[in-house]
Amino acid sequence: MRLIYNAQLALEDEFVAGYVVTAGDEIKQVAAGMPDGSLMDMCDSRIDAQGAILMPGVIDTHVHFREPGLTHKASIASESRAAVAGGVTSYIDMPNVVPPTVTIEALEDKWDRAAKDSMANYSFYIGATASNTDMLIHDIDYTRVPGVKVFLGSSTGGMLVDDAAVLRRIFGEVPALIAVHSEDETMIRQNLERAKARYGVDIPMAMHPLIRSEEACFECTRRAVELARELNTRLHVLHVTTARELELFYKLAEELEEKRITAEACVGHLWFSDEDYARLGTRIKVNPAIKSDDDRAELRDAVTRVIGCIDVVSTDHAPHTLEEKCQKYLKSPSGMPLAQFSLVAMLQLTYEGWLSKLTVVERMCHAPARLFGIANRGFLRPGYKADMVLVEEVPQGWIIDDDDVRSSCRWTPLKGATMHHRVARTWVNGVEVYPNEPPYPPAEPLRFTRNT
Ligand SMILES: [Zn+2]
Repeated sequence: MRLIYNAQLALEDEFVAGYVVTAGDEIKQVAAGMPDGSLMDMCDSRIDAQGAILMPGVIDTHVHFREPGLTHKASIASESRAAVAGGVTSYIDMPNVVPPTVTIEALEDKWDRAAKDSMANYSFYIGATASNTDMLIHDIDYTRVPGVKVFLGSSTGGMLVDDAAVLRRIFGEVPALIAVHSEDETMIRQNLERAKARYGVDIPMAMHPLIRSEEACFECTRRAVELARELNTRLHVLHVTTARELELFYKLAEELEEKRITAEACVGHLWFSDEDYARLGTRIKVNPAIKSDDDRAELRDAVTRVIGCIDVVSTDHAPHTLEEKCQKYLKSPSGMPLAQFSLVAMLQLTYEGWLSKLTVVERMCHAPARLFGIANRGFLRPGYKADMVLVEEVPQGWIIDDDDVRSSCRWTPLKGATMHHRVARTWVNGVEVYPNEPPYPPAEPLRFTRNT
């Protein structure tokens, strides 16, 4: 048995000074105060946390680990190692790889790869295409698959679904969560043509949020929410970026377990604003675009609401090589790596007074588990899997550098940022995975109970 004592335990409603006992892959005991001598004696591994925060591991429900087919950018092995260094113990990966994850064979291939290489627990969305709807309705085991990813407005990897009849069938008949990337492709194309006419190939980065505009986000999300209400779809809107879209979710104030429509915000949109384009350029080119200061402030506020309009915080971790990113606007691919620093970045926002530490734990650990019905994870509770992270406060602060980056791209948009928390240790299924690595990855596939 392992004992971690003298810790600030992140329990559901409060932080409690106490200890946790684990055996094998399971949490056995969660208690306040100090352990007595006999318990100390019974445990063969004893860790004095010295007042650090012990919290459930982060469940990052939106990552792009680039495998298979894009492994010059990243891999399940490299990115899961980056993730656990950031306190992430489980992740859900997206289907826009090569070949895209739009068949059962492609899903099986990813499960095989992850079983061999992943340091964190894993699962994989299946992507919707214009022609795989029957399979999505009849043939997928949604206790193993978190849901269906639909690109409503972005033609990523041939997975654009903009046929109204197909979309109605997906929203109406697929017995699972439908996660959408929501931007209106027609508006974006028109905005892009106008920008090209004005700037040629030298479109400045500051145009990005005007091309992938607030209007394009709002209109697409408004239609998706409308359709989901009509057809009673279990809709999850990914990476919300605008204050205007939030208005669509304020009205949906049920408890998370009952909600049919939920929303995600990503760390990049909570951290950066359009003022950062001058300094970081295409490094922070992401879709949907990082918007204004006001949008960011509203997003941060939305994360704090108890019955939230932003239900979960993820990363949209999407590494590209720096060479790829540093091309001109039109050629630079969208996406940036964030999983390794998402928890410390969100905790930095608590340091700056934007939200509480309990809110960070809720949005990054508890709520993802509840939203997807992830079995036995996401909480420090007896009987749950021992996915845990120990986080130290660093009063003097520390500065993120590219040398710290474990992602195979070896750069981070957070270079130079000062953080006041640091991940000290991470356990996945009771096995320490950071800083010390086990000889074999201890990760398991996630199971879902809420996918009907
Ligand atoms: Zn994404």
